[in-house]
Amino acid sequence: MICVILTLSVDNRVEDGRLNHLFATWRMSYIGAPKHEGCIFCDFPAENRDGERYILHRGMDCFIILNLYPYNPGHLMIVPFRHTNLYETLTDGELLEMNRLAARSIVMLKRVLGAGAFNMGINLGKDAGAGVEGHLHLHVVPRWVGDNNFMPVLADTRVLPEAMEETYRKLKTGWEDEAGF
Ligand SMILES: [Zn+2]
Repeated sequence: MICVILTLSVDNRVEDGRLNHLFATWRMSYIGAPKHEGCIFCDFPAENRDGERYILHRGMDCFIILNLYPYNPGHLMIVPFRHTNLYETLTDGELLEMNRLAARSIVMLKRVLGAGAFNMGINLGKDAGAGVEGHLHLHVVPRWVGDNNFMPVLADTRVLPEAMEETYRKLKTGWEDEAGF
């Protein structure tokens, strides 16, 4: 009789010591999916299937999309439609809308998910940890008491208790309820 024991790590601290890939059943489709050719922040809005791409809102200059590899449920990214990784070239309109959408996201995430704190930031360039290095994006990560003691790098991920679809549905409804903000 041959006995095979498989061990799966649910919290893989990978070789470089950063909290990185992890196993959750709902993420297997992403892990197994072919790598996207091109820029997701240009291509996803152009596809006009916002529900499948978890695009939460489209503004004039920026849009909001859920992070496919979220640090926490409700981890959003606010992204200019224009393909650039040069923050210093953002127009006044892009800068203003990016920050207004961040403020509105915070109001919504507090109300809908009960988030008590937030991490916000941009990883500018690969060496700073940008996952999509050619197209800058502002992360908004809701936090809760006890969810983790610190946040090592914005680009990192960890196990989530809730599926993306469920989070997207809640936030989409919540965003529309926040329309008067
Ligand atoms: Zn792009």
